Amino acid sequence: EFLPAEDYLERLNPEQREAVETLDGPLLVLAGAGTGKTRVLTTRFAHILLSRRAFPNQVLAVTFTNKAAREMRERVGHLLGRPAEGLWLGTFHALCARMLRRHAEYVGLTSSFTILDTDDQIRLLKQVMEVNRIDNKRWPPQGLMGVIQRWKDRGLSPDRVTPAEDSEFAGGKARLVYADYQARLKQLNACDFGDLMLHITDILRTRPDVLAQYHRSFRYILVDEYQDTNTVQYLWLRLLAQKDPAQYPGGANICCVGDDDQSIYSWRGAEVENILRFEKDFAGARIVRLESNYRSTAPILAAASALIAHNGGRLGKTLRPGRNDSSGEKLLVASVWDSDEEARTVGERMEQLHRDKHPLSEMAILVRAGFQTRAFEERLITLGLPYRVVGGLRFYERAEIRDAMAYMRVLNQPADDLAFERIVNVPRRGVGDAALQALHVEAREAQVPLAMATMRLIERGTLKGRLREQLTLLMAAFGRAREALSQNPGTGSHVLVVEALLDETGYADMWKRDKSPEAPGRLDNLKELTRALADFESLGGFLEHVSLVMENEENAGADRVNLMTLHGAKGLEFDTVFLPGWEEGVFPSQRTLDEGGNKGLEEERRLAYVGITRARKRAIISHAVNRRIYANWQSSIPSRFIDELPAEHVEQAGSAALAREQLRSAPPVFGGQFPLTARRPRTVEAWEEPPRAKRQTSIAVGTRVFHQKFGYGTVRAADDDRLEIEFEHAGMKKLLDTYVEPAGS
Ligand code: ATP
Ligand code: MG
Repeated sequence: EFLPAEDYLERLNPEQREAVETLDGPLLVLAGAGTGKTRVLTTRFAHILLSRRAFPNQVLAVTFTNKAAREMRERVGHLLGRPAEGLWLGTFHALCARMLRRHAEYVGLTSSFTILDTDDQIRLLKQVMEVNRIDNKRWPPQGLMGVIQRWKDRGLSPDRVTPAEDSEFAGGKARLVYADYQARLKQLNACDFGDLMLHITDILRTRPDVLAQYHRSFRYILVDEYQDTNTVQYLWLRLLAQKDPAQYPGGANICCVGDDDQSIYSWRGAEVENILRFEKDFAGARIVRLESNYRSTAPILAAASALIAHNGGRLGKTLRPGRNDSSGEKLLVASVWDSDEEARTVGERMEQLHRDKHPLSEMAILVRAGFQTRAFEERLITLGLPYRVVGGLRFYERAEIRDAMAYMRVLNQPADDLAFERIVNVPRRGVGDAALQALHVEAREAQVPLAMATMRLIERGTLKGRLREQLTLLMAAFGRAREALSQNPGTGSHVLVVEALLDETGYADMWKRDKSPEAPGRLDNLKELTRALADFESLGGFLEHVSLVMENEENAGADRVNLMTLHGAKGLEFDTVFLPGWEEGVFPSQRTLDEGGNKGLEEERRLAYVGITRARKRAIISHAVNRRIYANWQSSIPSRFIDELPAEHVEQAGSAALAREQLRSAPPVFGGQFPLTARRPRTVEAWEEPPRAKRQTSIAVGTRVFHQKFGYGTVRAADDDRLEIEFEHAGMKKLLDTYVEPAGS
């Protein structure tokens, strides 16, 4: 039983207080990181209720994540002195789902509609494509799904997509498919995630009675992280907030808080322009700026401000330390030799802090891309430091990793039926329930594993058509891989074999053709998996390692280190923040560099700004001078963002700091060379060339060869059992010789 915090207004500075107490009319709080925007929003919520301006269910509050919604519910409850219930508080999607259930009939659904998951969406879209005779080999359904999602982000239902807007995708039929897909969803009484926003926005647009009902009931609207709203979210907010002034003299009581410097979701359709339009959309809007940062120490703040100053076209905000102490540790930039050393030093620092009584939950590792968590997870497990991966799965629990591991398990152990069942129809090979049933029956009767049963049914001619064709290919790929493993026992060959297996079975392709925003991350995870595999002498050794890692069940107890992506860290804060992998090609990401231009780069810089400003007391940036890409080492250049940090607030550290200076002056050398003369740290053994297989390839340089998938090519280099082949259509590839056969010239 807690009491209302009477002095809640006292705990605000004058500007914050103004933002909380200006209850009539539209209000935009535009302010930098850690200035108390979220605190203002929460306090405003409580203030509205405590001053009896509205009942709890008359306030609509939008947060960016479910976690933020939970926190706000707690904070409001705390300020109110009782648990807050019946609130319209949540993410855009959660709020829209709740609204849509009330009015589903207006879009042809019933209130019990189902929300499809991604797999179901793709399955349905595939059916629709088939009906429309669109070749799903040429036009991957995932790609088309991406096109449709972008339309939904922009609030475009099928009838609003003009022919000019039609995508080149699917030969100009995308619009048509979109309409059919929506019609099918309706028949199924279902909608996908994007529909939640789209449908309810359509209803509010076309049903004045429904809109009027919400205008009556929502007296106040509160929106956090406004800079990351996309078009349909913006339309939804505008519909709800723009009331008839004759009927509602106060005007729109909408309060949005945001920071243009933290706009990091443009890749998901977010439009930072929404924040710039606020004054135009809502006549008489007040703008409050908050300038005191209460979160971070002065050096952290100064560094973050200097970094973001490199972006152009900013709204411009002042940010100064609000805690009146000029003390505080400098930012640490640690140069490390490679990712092993990076994970080790982060782990050591965490242990040290923990010994000094710093709670683990006040430490976070923020990575640019999900695949980067693996190295840290394994290190933390070794050290016995409990951790959680916030907003995502632990590395070895991710779907694509489990799939790929299942392929490896079948390769390693053909009798692994669980693994076989997981992948036999991933990617889809037409193995339905009936076919699976037949495999099981055969396996039981002949007392053989499923893989063997599959072979038997193929040989006996029981399986027919495409199914037979596909499963024959699958089994042949496993056959070739197994043969390659036994013929090339040398260290390192298993990595190439696994890569070939994932290629030949179409598994890697499945993700390459996937155009959803998550697909590139999944491919990166797969690459990271083969990198991890390269650390082991054999496939069996690796699989054992992973099962041990996974065995290490998540430790109970609340005190855990946080691992998450920079995107997932928005709005959060920690005493200590580790920011690893600040290298060109990792952060800023390779994709951004490849795209060129300033737009992507500026978004990456905003992400760096978000990262640094999560820290209260210390921020530790690191970069490795060597990264392994597949089996090769590559020198890495420190991220340009490191150079953009002001020297007076940065301390350099690490075994490779000297090397870094040299790296700057000398051009990097690629391909397993170390251009550095600096003292090698103790991980040196790990880089020495592994003992090679004895066997020499019998295919000579210059031989013309044939490969199942890549076609014809010519051997350009041969080394033990490895060949570098220039394929006529597929370019240069490195393969094991068992995968190709000489082809007459
Ligand atoms: P972000 O842009 O990262 O989302 P924000 O502007 O939402 O940041 P908050 O998370 O609301 O900032 O506040 C940052 C920290 O500063 C919190 O720990 C908050 O409790 C504290 N804080 C905010 N205002 C004050 C204040 N007036 N006095 C003391 N502490 C404050
Ligand atoms: Mg916030």
